[in-house]
Amino acid sequence: MDVKKVLVIGGSDPSGGAGIQADVKTLVEIGVYPYSAITAITVQNSSGLTGYEVVPARLLREQINAVIYEGNIRSIKTGMLGSSENILEIASLLTLKIIEYSVIDPVIKASNRVPLLSDASIAVLKKRLLPYCFMVTPNADEAKCLTGLAIKTEKDLLDAAMALKETGVKWVLVKGGHLESNLSIDLLYDGEREYYFESEKVGHKNVRGTGCMLASAITAYLTLGFTPCDAVDKAKAYVFNKICNAVQLGKGSLQALHFRKEGGCTENRID
Ligand code: PLP
Repeated sequence: MDVKKVLVIGGSDPSGGAGIQADVKTLVEIGVYPYSAITAITVQNSSGLTGYEVVPARLLREQINAVIYEGNIRSIKTGMLGSSENILEIASLLTLKIIEYSVIDPVIKASNRVPLLSDASIAVLKKRLLPYCFMVTPNADEAKCLTGLAIKTEKDLLDAAMALKETGVKWVLVKGGHLESNLSIDLLYDGEREYYFESEKVGHKNVRGTGCMLASAITAYLTLGFTPCDAVDKAKAYVFNKICNAVQLGKGSLQALHFRKEGGCTENRID
């Protein structure tokens, strides 16, 4: 049986809304095998993140080596990395040139604005990791932290994408979901081609982990053989469906569900 494998590298969220838990659920639902290496243990629930501790780089390296040894891992997706040392571990994995698709979700702050990466580590991510990566998927805030460019209009999306492309990363997906418009507009850019993805905003829905799910879904679809453009398109549709059907499980934000039921998880819908 030809089972495709993806390694997700990120922080643990005990409430399962974001981080590694959201990644693993997404990968399984789309149909690839999830390996996972933990960079940090966070303390959070649907009401927000209250603390975390970063895993030492040596322990991260050992987790990565243990699963890479299993063979045939073509793709990685990273989320919260937590420290410059952890970022450099991922960079050294990519310099081995055994990973075809590396999708970097540059997690800088938690949804409740708690910082998850220092300014010094943001610079390390930009200079030492992005040059080896296949795709980076910042939202407007993250793009601003990485480039210094504020994103308010569609034209700003392209400026930020061009600035990020200069790092050497192959594809940039700048997510403009936070732009002041009725539509959510994302731009996928490879230095030559610009693909704009427009979707209706489901802004009234406060669902955590949407960035994690999107980057994981893109990685899964790339690994299954879709082009970058089709992988983003399909991943956006996947996350849109998750947001539309999210439910209140705890006391704060809504939770995406990943049960495999006939007709997706629409049966669980509560509006
Ligand atoms: N990874 C972890 C461990 C997190 O705690 C968070 C946010 O709190 C994220 C990733 C990013 O989540 P989102 O997809 O909502 O940007």
